[in-house]
Amino acid sequence: MILRSICRKCSRPLAEDEDVANMKSPINELYKKKRHTCPHCGEKQKEMEFQKPTSFREGKVELTTEEVRQRLEMMSDDDAAKMKIKGGRPEWFILTILPVPPVTVRPSITLETGERSEDDLTHKLVDVVRINERLRKNLEIGAPDFIIADIWELLQYHVSTLMSNEISTLPPARHRSGRALKTLMQRLGKKEGRFRGNLSGKRVNFSARTVISPDPYISINEIGVPMEIAKELTVPIKVNKNNIDELKKIILNGSDTHPGANYVIRQDGIRKKVTSENKKDIVEEINAGYIVERHLMDGDITIMNRQPSLHRMSMMAHKARIMPFRTIRLNLAVTIPYNADFDGDEMNLHVPQTEEAQTEAQMLMLVEKNIRSPRYGRPIIACKHDHITGSYLLTKDDTRFTAAEAAKMLFLIGIEDYPIKDEYSGKELLSYILPKDLNVEIKTSTGEYLPEYEYAVIKNGALKRGVIDDNALGEKKAKLIDVIERTYGPDTAAKFIDNSTRLALETITNHGFSIAISDLDLSTHAKNKIESVISEYHSTANKMIKDYRAGKLEKTSGLSSETTLENKILQMGGMVTNEASEIISKDMPMNSVVTMAITGARGSFVNITQMCGLVGQESLEGERISRGYVNRTLSHFEQGDMSLTPKGFVSNNYRKGLHPFEFFFDAMNSRENLMDKSLHTRHSGYMERRLINALQDLRVEYDGTVRDSKNHIIQFVAGEDGIDPAKSDAGEVSMEMAARL
Ligand SMILES: [Mg+2]
Ligand SMILES: [Zn+2]
Repeated sequence: MILRSICRKCSRPLAEDEDVANMKSPINELYKKKRHTCPHCGEKQKEMEFQKPTSFREGKVELTTEEVRQRLEMMSDDDAAKMKIKGGRPEWFILTILPVPPVTVRPSITLETGERSEDDLTHKLVDVVRINERLRKNLEIGAPDFIIADIWELLQYHVSTLMSNEISTLPPARHRSGRALKTLMQRLGKKEGRFRGNLSGKRVNFSARTVISPDPYISINEIGVPMEIAKELTVPIKVNKNNIDELKKIILNGSDTHPGANYVIRQDGIRKKVTSENKKDIVEEINAGYIVERHLMDGDITIMNRQPSLHRMSMMAHKARIMPFRTIRLNLAVTIPYNADFDGDEMNLHVPQTEEAQTEAQMLMLVEKNIRSPRYGRPIIACKHDHITGSYLLTKDDTRFTAAEAAKMLFLIGIEDYPIKDEYSGKELLSYILPKDLNVEIKTSTGEYLPEYEYAVIKNGALKRGVIDDNALGEKKAKLIDVIERTYGPDTAAKFIDNSTRLALETITNHGFSIAISDLDLSTHAKNKIESVISEYHSTANKMIKDYRAGKLEKTSGLSSETTLENKILQMGGMVTNEASEIISKDMPMNSVVTMAITGARGSFVNITQMCGLVGQESLEGERISRGYVNRTLSHFEQGDMSLTPKGFVSNNYRKGLHPFEFFFDAMNSRENLMDKSLHTRHSGYMERRLINALQDLRVEYDGTVRDSKNHIIQFVAGEDGIDPAKSDAGEVSMEMAARL
C-alpha cells in the first residue's frame, strides 16, 4: 500500500501536500485513488501489483527487494509522518539482519529416552542458516543466475515462515512428521497463544475441578470435597503455641483416608515434604514460626465457580466437607445461581491461602450472604422441581405421617423434643422449621386452580392453612424465604432452606412421584369440546379466506388485506390454544402432571395442552409458515392454499402423534427457537462483556457517589435511588427495612 501511495521516482506521496495533510488515513486514501503522474516530479506512474507476501510487480517488471527498500529509504521523515507511518522508518519493513532469539525462547527438550527434541523455532532457524550458507557458496563460485534466484526465493520462504507459518499464499513449513511448525506468529494469537493462553488466562494454583453431583443432606453453605482433592489442596497454617499440638496431631494422622499435611516450611523458607517415613521427625522438629501446609479439612473456606461466570453468584464461598468418592457435592438449592445440573457439569474449587482472603470470602461470598439476588431483590437461592412438589405433598391438607415416619423426618431437621403421637400432619412437621414468632400470609400459586389453598397462613410459626409451593419457595418469588431472610437474617434463612430441602425430598422420596401417559387422559366430553373448537376455527378461517379472495374482507386501518387476514388467523389460533388449555385445566383430575403444573414445580397447562390437546400454530419469524416450494409449503398441498393445515397449524397433539407434515412444521419451528436461543446467548454475552469493560472501574464511594478511576462523579447517588437491590424487597425499601439498615 505504501508503494502504491508514493512516486516511483522521487518517493513523495502521490498528492499535493495540503491534501495529504487533510487526509484521515493517507495511505488508504492515496492507495485507492491512485494518481497517474507525480505532482512533485512529474514522473508517470505504473501499475503496481502485489503477488506474494514478498514479491511485487510494477508494470511487467518484477521489483527486487533492494529496489523496494530503496524507494522506502528515500521517503523523508516528514513525508512518513504526514502519511501517519508510526513506529519507525518505512524501510524497516524489509529486514537486512535477521534477529535470532536466544535459547530460552526456544528451549530443547530431552525426552525420557535420552533423545533430544528441538523447538520448532530452532528447526526453522536451522533451515534459514543452511539455505543462507548455500546461497553464499553459490555466489562465491559464481553460479548461474537462475540457480541464485531459486536459492534466494527459498531463503525468503524460510524467513517468511519463521515469522508466520500461516501465510495464505505460502505452503506451511512442516515437521518430519507432517505437522505444521509453530513459529513466531503462531505463539501469540488464538486461544492457546501467549495472550489468551498464558497471560489473560493462566493456570491457577490451589484449585481443583471435577464433576458435580447433588447432596440434599449438606447445607447450602457447604461443599462436598472428595478426599483425593482434599489431600492435594492445602491451607498454610503458621505454627504458634496454641495450635502446635493440634498441627502435630494432623501431621501424624495423615494417611490415605485421613487429612494430614503435604509440606512444612521452616522460618528460613526451606520447604520439607511430609512423608510417612519422616513425619515423626518433622513433628519433633516444628516449633512456633514454622508454616504447616495442611490438607483441606472440614470447615475450611473454599470458593466454588461454575462457568460461564455470568453474574456475582457464579462464584460463592462454601465451607469444605471432606467426603469419599470423586465428585464435588452441592446442595440442590445452589444449582439456581450456578445454573448447574448434574448431567456431567463440572465446577472449579479454589482455596484462599491467606487469612485476609479467607475472611473476606466468608464475609462477602458465603452462600447465605447471596440468597437475595442483587438483580431483582428476591431470593435466587431457592427451591425448584422436586423441592416444590415435595413441599406441596408435605403440606397439603390430607397428608399424614406415622410416628415412625415423623421421627425420621424430625431427626433429619435436628428436632429431638416433640410430643409423642400416633399421627402427624405434614403442616405440623413443616412448622418445626419455621421461626417461632413468624406471622405471614402468602398467596399460593396452587390457589389459582385449587381455591381452598389460595393462601398459606402462618401464625406464630405454625402453618395453619394452605400449601407451601412455588410462590413460597421458588426462585424470584420465594415469599417465605424472602420474609425469613428479611426478618431473621441470612443464617436463619440458610437453615430454613437446608431443612425444607430435607423435609420436601424425604416426603417426595417416600411418597414416590412419577408420571404416566394416562396422566394425560381427557374425558370424551373434553375431547369433543376441543375438537369442535378446532373445527370451528377451521371453518371460520376458510370463510375469512373466501371473503379475502372476494375482496370483501374488512381491512384493519394501515394494513393490507392480506396482512389483515394473516393477523386475524394468527390471533384466532392463539385463542383456540387458550380455549383448549382452559377446557383441559377444568377437565383433568388431580394427578402428577397436574400437580407439577399447578404448584409451579415444572411445566404449565400450555405444555399439557400441547401433549393432549393440540400443538397449535407453528410459526417462523412470527408469521404462519409460508416458505418451502413455489406458492406452498410442501408438495402435499395445492399451490396458493391459504387454509390452516398447509400453513403450519397442527391440530394433533404429541400424545396422539403428528402427521409427517405437522412434524416437519414443528421441526421448523423448533429449529428457529434453537437458533434464536444460541444467537441470543452469544449476542447478550458480548454485550455484557462490553458493559463490564466500560464499567469495571466505577465504584460507590463512602459519600454515596459513583466515581470512576479519575474520581469523576458518574452518579451522585448510586443507581439514582441509592438502593442496593440485594438488600431490598424486589427493588423497594420499606421504612422498616431502611431503619434496620
Ligand atoms: Mg448440564
Ligand atoms: Zn515523483
